[in-house]
Amino acid sequence: MKDKVNILGVYVDMVNIPQAADRIIRFFDEDRLHKVYTPNSEIIMAAYKDESFKDLLNSADLLTADGIGVVYASKILGKPINERAAGFDIACEVLDRINGTSRKLFLFGGKPGVAELARDNLLKKYPALNIVGCRNGYFKPEEEPEIVKEINDSGADLVFVCLGAPKQEQWLDRNSDALKARVAMGIGGSLDVFAGTAERAPKFFCDHGIEWLYRLIKQPSRAGRMLALPKFGLTVLFKGKKYSQD
Ligand code: UDP
Repeated sequence: MKDKVNILGVYVDMVNIPQAADRIIRFFDEDRLHKVYTPNSEIIMAAYKDESFKDLLNSADLLTADGIGVVYASKILGKPINERAAGFDIACEVLDRINGTSRKLFLFGGKPGVAELARDNLLKKYPALNIVGCRNGYFKPEEEPEIVKEINDSGADLVFVCLGAPKQEQWLDRNSDALKARVAMGIGGSLDVFAGTAERAPKFFCDHGIEWLYRLIKQPSRAGRMLALPKFGLTVLFKGKKYSQD
């Protein structure tokens, strides 16, 4: 486990964005589904409190640190991850690399119309990208087999599953055996950013690890959720060493 850091029982890969993309590109060569999740501190806290969600995260083939809280936690635990590897940034790097290749991408998630908007914008940026399908992320449980069939029939190698956490991880856990794609990335609100229906924090906030502050200013209703960050810091400080030994 030398290339992973155990943060409260969640084994996070010590990779930066290009390294994460390298791994994903290699996943395409193996004929099975690989799951990629990008937990932030809130998600790791949820996994700390819920053993089955923790197992579900640890079943991923790649888990990257999405958020400065996770990066700081790795430093506190003496196995520093140098920088955050957010799902959106990894997705952009992977798209750069598969643009103009035969790899096929399916966009799954967001409100009706968002995936289609994301597709249109992505094709402006990556004109040779092979986007083979779009599906919104609002459905009844009985519609799941039909969604899996739609993704499989599209021949997609790569699926962006953007249902927010923990929905996207749970959806993939339920459906991974049936999915024929080689890589599925659970990347939350990324389709909204590609679609332009949500903004990313300006570079200054991202570079200084204060993207959370930008989000708080934009959406003060998130204040309650953000209390998870100091709670996470304290839990890592007081309980983290116990886990990080293995
Ligand atoms: N979403 C979805 N289906 C759902 C719930 C959410 O497709 O049942 C989408 C939502 O439209 C948004 C994304 O998942 O595009 C992220 O949702 P949210 O902001 O709740 O999650 P967060 O990014 O804060 O984890």
